[in-house]
Amino acid sequence: MAKLTGLQIQKLLPKTNCKECGSNTCLAFAMKLASKKADLADCPYASDEAKQVLGAASEAPVKGVAFGKDKTVKVGEETCFYRHEKTFVNQTALAININDSASTAEIDALIDEIKNYELDRVGELLGIEMVAVTQTGDSVESFVALAEKVWSKTGCPLILRSDDVEALTAAAMAVKGSNSLLVAATSENWEAVVKVAQDCGHAVVATAPELDQLVKLTADIKAAGFNDLVIQLQTKSLSERFQVNSMTRKAALKDSYKPLGYATLAFIEHEDSLMAASVTAITEITKYGGICVLPEFNKAQLATLMALRQNIYTDPQKPIQVEPKIYPVGEPDENSPVFITTNFSLTYFIVSGEIENSGISAWLLVPECEGMSVLTAWAAGKFSGATIGKFTREVELEAKVKSREIIIPGYVAQISGELEESMPGWKVIVGPQEAGDLESFVKARFA
Ligand code: SF4
Repeated sequence: MAKLTGLQIQKLLPKTNCKECGSNTCLAFAMKLASKKADLADCPYASDEAKQVLGAASEAPVKGVAFGKDKTVKVGEETCFYRHEKTFVNQTALAININDSASTAEIDALIDEIKNYELDRVGELLGIEMVAVTQTGDSVESFVALAEKVWSKTGCPLILRSDDVEALTAAAMAVKGSNSLLVAATSENWEAVVKVAQDCGHAVVATAPELDQLVKLTADIKAAGFNDLVIQLQTKSLSERFQVNSMTRKAALKDSYKPLGYATLAFIEHEDSLMAASVTAITEITKYGGICVLPEFNKAQLATLMALRQNIYTDPQKPIQVEPKIYPVGEPDENSPVFITTNFSLTYFIVSGEIENSGISAWLLVPECEGMSVLTAWAAGKFSGATIGKFTREVELEAKVKSREIIIPGYVAQISGELEESMPGWKVIVGPQEAGDLESFVKARFA
């Protein structure tokens, strides 16, 4: 498989472009197979010849599983051990646990917090992807009622956890269509858990006390025809968690070891402090965790974990960008000053924040720089006097402001002359090199 190109694989596919695999065309699906981001099993019309030729090697090294009504929460599909090799594909899904022993008031409050949680960071809206519903008592009815309530009120796919197969079955049936996750299939109960998962369209978590037992379990379940699996690694310490997570991912990616080629699920629940829980969750996010279930809703912890996750799972080949245009900072008018920076999100948010902190209103001009920072964009010829001048005409800057002064970052002082030539009638002011000095620059100049 590794030696087959997308075009060679496409020749083995039906070429009907029916889209049932989730790709728009057979060629697009073939390309995903070639880059190990899809599984041949997702094409229901693959011929025996295709299966034979592509074989087990055609499967993604880490099986992808999608959750939710629209299957928008995805885990797995990773192809890299280190992000700099290419990119990580599907970020660790964050979930909050709710026990069925909690009071109605506690449950309702938690559901509201989960549903309304939103973190706006560098132009992306981040939220909680899944909710775990754990049976801690004996009542099947309470567990099922909680699952129904959480699903109907949050719309999040669930992680249904119970040791009682009867309760798990009832809850799984009650939220059919949510494409949730059943916890857990063990060597004793897996046939019953897999049966209800198959009937209701859910995925299954496989778990065992030791890795070799887990390997046997995933192999048995797959041999029985079910492969929408996530694995739960049972570890006793943070260092063991770090080691086992790394070994498992290495076995899947480097050795193509299929029995461990699954995303992982971890419950963070035995830590004795918020700090300890955060460190464990950070280990999951940085070391290959597929789904990380937090024991409580804590905004400070969530913001930390989401920022970390965003940094790790942002594709290093595609910097986060903001739309090229003129941005108002505060409530600028035609006499407000004009600043310029690049459309790299982090740069834009830092610069606009510093201008805002200085207490003035201004226009912030953000030309297309392919998400590069100031010096990189300048070095690549995307942030020159000519390109900025052209952009100011495209956005009709002169019709918006009376001022004829534009403040450029200090790092590109060398473009002043070219920019003045490109913007006749304008005076170019060289601002500070560091955004952190903008506030004092503004106060000195506009006070
Ligand atoms: S499901 Fe199979 S036949 Fe249909 S588009 Fe995908 S690869 Fe082609």
